Amino acid sequence: MAYGIREEILNLKEYKAGKPIDEVKREYGLNTVIKLASNENPLGFSPKVKEVLSNLVDNANMYPDASNYELKYKIAQKRNVHFDQVFCSTGSDSLIKVICNTFLNTGDESIMGEVTFSRYGDCVKLMGGKVVEIPMKNHGLDLEAMVNAINDKTKIIWLCNPNNPTGTIFTMEELENILNRIPKHVIVVMDEAYIEYVSDKNFPDSLKLLPKYNNMIILRTFSKAYGLAGLRCGYGIASKELGGYFNRVIGPFDVNLFAQGAAVAALDDDEFIKRAHDTNEEWRNYLYSEFEKLGLEYIKSNTNFIMFNCKTDDVRVFNDLLKRGIIVKAGTHLGMPGWVRVSIGTKEQDAKFIEVLKDVLNK
Ligand code: PMP
Repeated sequence: MAYGIREEILNLKEYKAGKPIDEVKREYGLNTVIKLASNENPLGFSPKVKEVLSNLVDNANMYPDASNYELKYKIAQKRNVHFDQVFCSTGSDSLIKVICNTFLNTGDESIMGEVTFSRYGDCVKLMGGKVVEIPMKNHGLDLEAMVNAINDKTKIIWLCNPNNPTGTIFTMEELENILNRIPKHVIVVMDEAYIEYVSDKNFPDSLKLLPKYNNMIILRTFSKAYGLAGLRCGYGIASKELGGYFNRVIGPFDVNLFAQGAAVAALDDDEFIKRAHDTNEEWRNYLYSEFEKLGLEYIKSNTNFIMFNCKTDDVRVFNDLLKRGIIVKAGTHLGMPGWVRVSIGTKEQDAKFIEVLKDVLNK
């Protein structure tokens, strides 16, 4: 085996990220490209962030604060938890890896939905863990079946809520029904990357449950509603004890100077988050009505993306949209062949997407 590369890595596949706008412009000779592939915030980010970023430029020669003091302090204050319960890294993506690094030995099992965020499976495999995929129920996570799959080897169960790529949620009642049946040696990861977009009033208040369940970890990110995907910052909240272990695994300077400053400022702008939520809801309803007019089945979403059934080869639809300057994600690459995931853009972007989609589907 060349270079002694670990077998786990030889068997891994590279993550298929949404195509960058410039790449599509280059490949297809286009001037205008709309990216609706990575669930970014089309409103941008809070104006308060911009001011902070320009002020920080002069400090770029200095290492960032390794303890993330201000950021952790602000998160603890906003979410009403203790400072030591908070841990931060370069996106929640990085924290998924940190969690796997912390708990998994070769052969340990980890339970997740069959159609969920692909990084859970990748990071479990990286550690030599075994991925246990549970079939979806009505496109959502089947919590009962997930709990029933727990055995002595189970270490982590991944609850993506709302779930990417289906946009579905489970409720507080459904969560409470299972938590008591999960043994304490099993870590429950609540990945709430899209929580700010949720409209359903029955969505779980996981922070309220945290004091009762020491095996629970909540993950959040600044990449979605906060609009800071390019800066890379995510955080987790867990018991103080677990927080302490994660801080041993996370790199000391993972969250850079700009990300720390921007995230603190972003947390101060609740109005921006409310606007992101409300406009997203309005545009989501617009897309629902357009899908209905086109007779296309879609999954009701609590996020800033929608999965719809294109009733034909989704990779063909993806490629035809791409040639016309619209980037989406093909369901085939997300474990749902025949479906397409589209991020909710501005009303204008969404209208353009629908216009091009009609052409591509000959509607
Ligand atoms: N969790 C979920 C469910 C996601 O969809 C994403 C981004 N696609 C992430 C985590 C990671 O986001 P980030 O690393 O940008 O915080």
